[in-house]
Amino acid sequence: MSEDGNPNAQSAALPGNCAELLCPSARCEVGAILLGIVGADGVVGYLSPQIQIDHQFVRQAHAGRTPERRFRFSQPCVESRCLQWTEGHCGLIDRALQAAEQRPAFTLASGALPRCSIRHRCRWFAQQGSRACQVCPLVVTEKEPAPDLP
Ligand code: SF4
Repeated sequence: MSEDGNPNAQSAALPGNCAELLCPSARCEVGAILLGIVGADGVVGYLSPQIQIDHQFVRQAHAGRTPERRFRFSQPCVESRCLQWTEGHCGLIDRALQAAEQRPAFTLASGALPRCSIRHRCRWFAQQGSRACQVCPLVVTEKEPAPDLP
C-alpha cells in the first residue's frame, strides 16, 4: 500500500497486519476494501462479504467522478501519520458525531447496525461503539478535516 493509503495520511503507511485497526474512510487504492457505495441520497450502502479492490477497479473508478465521493474504502489506520489523528485517537468520527448532534432536524438512525464488513477491526467502532455506526453511513470521504453530512 502506498503512503496515500489513508486520505489524510502524512507519511508512509504501515505494513499490513491483521491485528491493526482499519480506517473506514480511506482512499481508492489497490488492495483497499470496498466498504460501501454512496447512494443517490448521499447515504452509504455497505457491502458484505468483504471485497478487496484490484488494479482494474481502481483504474475504472478514477475514470469517472472522484471515487471517494462515490464509494467508501477501508485501509489500515495509520494513527499519528494521519491528519485526523488527535490526542491519541481519530478526530474525524468525533467531529462527525458532533456535527450530527448539532443539527436539530437530524436524529441518529436507530435499530440494527449497518452490515459492514470491517466492524471487528474498525477504528471508529473501537472508539465510539455503535454511535459511530449510526453516523458512519452519512460520511463521505474528503481530504479536508470536516466530514460531509447531509
Ligand atoms: S463505523 Fe460502524 S458501520 Fe462504519 S465502518 Fe465502522 S463498524 Fe462499519
